[in-house]
Amino acid sequence: MDLVRIKGNTCYIKAATNVGVYVFAGGCCLLIDTGFTGAQARMIDETVKNNNIRLQYIVNTHIHLDHCRGNIYFQRNYPRCKVYTSQSEKPFAENPSLLAAIFFSANPLPDLDRGPRRFPIDHYLETGVWKIEEQEFEIIPLVGHTIGQIGLITPDRVCFLGDSIFSASTLEKYLIPYRYDIGKSITTLHSLSEVDADYFVISHDGDAFAGEELPGLVAKNLENINTVQQQILELLRQPLSKEDLVEQLATNNDLPLNLMEYHVIFSTVSAFLTYLLERKLINYHVQKGRLLFQSL
Ligand SMILES: [Zn+2]
Repeated sequence: MDLVRIKGNTCYIKAATNVGVYVFAGGCCLLIDTGFTGAQARMIDETVKNNNIRLQYIVNTHIHLDHCRGNIYFQRNYPRCKVYTSQSEKPFAENPSLLAAIFFSANPLPDLDRGPRRFPIDHYLETGVWKIEEQEFEIIPLVGHTIGQIGLITPDRVCFLGDSIFSASTLEKYLIPYRYDIGKSITTLHSLSEVDADYFVISHDGDAFAGEELPGLVAKNLENINTVQQQILELLRQPLSKEDLVEQLATNNDLPLNLMEYHVIFSTVSAFLTYLLERKLINYHVQKGRLLFQSL
């Protein structure tokens, strides 16, 4: 793994989940997200150490395991490092199995990764200016993918966007990436054009890019949401259950699903159904033990 400088003191480590690194004048650093596995965290740690930087702070954009399970490694090896995330992510930090419970709608199947018992967080961040080590960062709300996802703009005007926006290759490969709230995802995507930064970093399948490229990617993500919405409305010309919808979306789009992917799509389809119902584009009824949705 290499430490790639984006601008000034702002760097990132390109990985399965990209990790932001802001280096303070004294040689300590802040990580933005920490990767999925202990092995990935160890490689991130080695990259940081090879550049003579000391880990001091971690900001988690949101509490999904691929963004924060590396915390376990870092908090064990750097007991004095401080961990931050947003106030709205608190329930998930204190009880990481909540996400699996949302997926399964009850005590989750053991194979739906429950994560550790909890992720210890030292401070919860509000949106706005956050001053640390004499440097000013801006915390921006990126709600939609999760309840309380945040982004961070460094003093070098580099913005880390977490999973608020997906790369073209991610959209092509998965078609229906995880979103908790479709309306808020759309609002967040529109708000990105107002973000005052020169460079941006998304978490998966992408390099850091200049601001000029952002509108094109925003448009692709909005188009993706619209495509999925249209497919769902088309399928709901006849009454279907959520399970039917997932099956038909997966079959029509040739999406092979394992247990986790099934639940990611199942949850995101649920988010679409709420969004479409709120816009009075669909309705539902319960019939013979099935909850059925239909386009209006
Ligand atoms: Zn995520």
